Amino acid sequence: MSKFFNKSLSKLEAYVPGEQLNDKKYIKLNTNESPYPPSPEVLDVVKNANAKDFRLYPDPECKNLKQAIADVYSVGYENVFVSNGSDEVLNFFFMAFCDDGVIFPNITYGFYKVFCELYSVDYKQIPLKEDFSIDINDYTGVNKNIIIANPNAPTGICLSLTDVEKIVKSNPDNLVVIDEAYVDFGGESAVKLIDKYTNLLVIHTYSKSRSLAGARLGFAFANKDIISDFEKVRYSTNPYNINKMSLSIGEASVKSQDYFNNNCLEIQKTREYVTNELEVLNFEVIPSKANFIFAKSNEISGKELYLKLKDKGVLVRHFDNPLILDYNRITIGSIDEMEIFISKVKECLNEK
Ligand SMILES: *Cc1c(COP(=O)(O)O)cnc(C)c1O
Repeated sequence: MSKFFNKSLSKLEAYVPGEQLNDKKYIKLNTNESPYPPSPEVLDVVKNANAKDFRLYPDPECKNLKQAIADVYSVGYENVFVSNGSDEVLNFFFMAFCDDGVIFPNITYGFYKVFCELYSVDYKQIPLKEDFSIDINDYTGVNKNIIIANPNAPTGICLSLTDVEKIVKSNPDNLVVIDEAYVDFGGESAVKLIDKYTNLLVIHTYSKSRSLAGARLGFAFANKDIISDFEKVRYSTNPYNINKMSLSIGEASVKSQDYFNNNCLEIQKTREYVTNELEVLNFEVIPSKANFIFAKSNEISGKELYLKLKDKGVLVRHFDNPLILDYNRITIGSIDEMEIFISKVKECLNEK
């Protein structure tokens, strides 16, 4: 650390993303990317792009992208916010809406805590139940800002829309944020509640279900007053937060709904296949509504399995958090990838 860095940040522990290794070719099941390419319409946009246009700034209002999203999700233009990855929406939320603190589960997306530390936000982590589910009583009528990933990460467990609505309805004077990064794989979105509740923000991303992690695109839905607050923060940090290419890509992607729906269904089918196979191999698999599963072997430790698989060219995600040491989070890849994954798991168990 240099002597110039703010003292207040000297103890900040940065978020650690999943490994992005290139020492050899891996089957990459560790950062919840899609195994499928972006839609054909997106590929066309890239193929036909004119690099000369890059001398110009992108549209700071992101009009076309916002309108395309509004159309597909049946909400008003003024209810849509777009961002450089959904991590940027999260960044703005913790930066500008958490003066009164925030609560979230003790096992969830690791970035929430990092943002709280970064902005000195007062936060409380609420323990999950023994089975890793959320007890909604911990979040109803608590008069606190709340952020919940739904489905949760890395567990994959999803709250029903009824439960989400109870939480939103019972905290009318606080912002309730539902991070729906994985909702397209079988969860029920809270987007349809934004007209009814003025304290709800729903966050989506292009990174998982839309096969566009590399394009860095996120979006969010809320009442127009909340959106205009987010716009104020965006214009005060980086009005050109989304590059020209990604604006066009994002627009094309939401127009490819059939391709998108089909991919999401394939992932769900493959998820059932992998779950069954692992259960046969004496794993406990948490019921998932996401494009990953969270699983623990009764025969080999989480860390050992992770290391052995890595050695065999399959990357999964292991977390050093003591509460979940026995588990690995396994992204659902293509059926071919998952067949190899299962055969490598068998090898690992046989070597024991
Ligand atoms: C992946 C993920 C995000 C961030 O995705 P971006 O790539 O920044 O859009 C946000 N929340 C959760 C729970 C995630 O898993």
